[in-house]
Amino acid sequence: MTGGTLATQDPAGELDLVILGAGSGGYACALRAAELGLSVALVEKGKLGGTCLHVGCIPTKALLHAAEVADAARESEQFGVNATLEGIDMGGVNKYKDGVVSRLYKGLTGLVNGRGITVVEGEGRLVAPNAVAEPSAPGVPGAGAGAACARRTWPGSSTSPSGRARGAASRASSSRAPRSPT
Ligand SMILES: Cc1cc2nc3c(=O)[nH]c(=O)nc-3n(C[C@H](O)[C@H](O)[C@H](O)COP(=O)(O)OP(=O)(O)OC[C@H]3O[C@@H](n4cnc5c(N)ncnc54)[C@H](O)[C@@H]3O)c2cc1C
Repeated sequence: MTGGTLATQDPAGELDLVILGAGSGGYACALRAAELGLSVALVEKGKLGGTCLHVGCIPTKALLHAAEVADAARESEQFGVNATLEGIDMGGVNKYKDGVVSRLYKGLTGLVNGRGITVVEGEGRLVAPNAVAEPSAPGVPGAGAGAACARRTWPGSSTSPSGRARGAASRASSSRAPRSPT
């Protein structure tokens, strides 16, 4: 989904919450809000999962794991294991790393879609405390990373989508998003 206006002050709007940025902070916020019964849109100008999944925690830990395997082979003798390290195939290491990222990306995408969260591709722009306007095409340079939540103003009140969210909170499940290594 691209284009359009999200979470405006239009009382006819469908969304309770619009989140700019689908990194660890953004998707965690979206999943929790959906769990609490809010209708949520997640705007992402890059890829769902953000820094941690695509260039940060996950790929670096996959590379570190490959290095540990090499170390274990090199030092195998001290464990009474006969093995030799014949070399490192960086193409193979990167293939392993890309596979880990891809598997978690697929899992996260399924989880977000399964919770009914609307994912909007493009760069969102916060134009008021409770309004996000006209996501532009993916790849457009702009605001720095980070998640921002904009809540719609409801007619006759300052915020609040009423007791709907509160009621759903008590029914919230314990499903979990992929966890990043620490
Ligand atoms: C090499 C490296 C290794 C790391 N290792 C670890 C680790 O082991 N453990 C750990 O806890 N942390 C680690 N981190 C830090 C971790 O990646 C960050 O703390 C985390 O990603 C922050 O999440 P975030 O949601 O705030 O931001 P991000 O993950 O950066 O997500 C922000 C997202 O918002 C999008 N965005 C920004 N503005 C807009 C807009 N206007 N419209 C639409 N989309 C927008 C961006 O495209 C991006 O996807 C590492 C970081 C790096 C770089």
